[in-house]
Amino acid sequence: MAFSTFNPFDLSGKVAIVTGSNTGLGAGMALALAQAGCDIVGVCRADPGETPARVEAAGRRFVEVRADLSSVAAVDDILGAAVEACGRLDILVNNAGIIRRDDALTFGEDDWDAVMDVNLKSVFFLAQAAARRFVAQGGGGKIINIASMLSFQGGIRVASYTASKSGVLGLTRLLANEWAAHGVNVNAIAPGYMATANTAALRDDAQRNGEILSRIPAGRWGAPDDLAGPVVFLASAASDYVHGHTLAVDGGWLAR
Ligand code: NAD
Repeated sequence: MAFSTFNPFDLSGKVAIVTGSNTGLGAGMALALAQAGCDIVGVCRADPGETPARVEAAGRRFVEVRADLSSVAAVDDILGAAVEACGRLDILVNNAGIIRRDDALTFGEDDWDAVMDVNLKSVFFLAQAAARRFVAQGGGGKIINIASMLSFQGGIRVASYTASKSGVLGLTRLLANEWAAHGVNVNAIAPGYMATANTAALRDDAQRNGEILSRIPAGRWGAPDDLAGPVVFLASAASDYVHGHTLAVDGGWLAR
């Protein structure tokens, strides 16, 4: 009896840009994509951390691009560096993001603009640049935006974060509608409460930590590794007919 060796999750020979690949969820997703066969173009503001060594230990190439995504001026350089180093682009993971906390009554314009610029404006213009490349190259491509529980819920004291991540969900749908015909899949992952720098303040607050943990059906904070399967799925041929979806990876939080 003959067995098929077709693996719909195989990413051998693919090239992925991962923004914010130096820490937290971005580092976890870069490693997962490398383990599935991808070369990684890692976009970092500063030091790339341990990600290059971990990607190379998985047998793949890591191309470092230093860029500050608080301005869209970085977008052309990122695409240019990726294509110059790797000759092509197949996958974009729009992961870099920031959060600012303050009461809505006092929330300032700086905290609004800083978050919207990184979490929404650069996400759109990087997606646009990647899609232009996919269309010029032919053969489609994959864009994975990182959303949040606050794409579905209101949250508290994080006005610009909620606005940006709710925007990411809508933008993911719009881009999917426009680019599906080009063979470009645009989807998002909405992580639940994950133990990274982004949530350090919440975890340090014993009361909030307890409230959050008691509401997560899985009974634990998520870890970067929890995004490995979902990101490989959305980056691979296994998801070729999945368009405009935001996949919650949340230990059951939204099911409550
Ligand atoms: P993190 O703070 O460890 O990572 C954020 C990354 O974004 C870092 O690599 C950082 O360098 C990069 N970044 C921030 N501003 C940048 C800029 N101006 N230019 C370039 N890079 C920049 O936190 P994380 O939890 O790994 O966050 C990753 C993504 O996941 C973010 O979009 C975040 O909103 C989202 N998210 C996190 C959680 C969570 O519970 N940790 C939940 C939902 C969504």
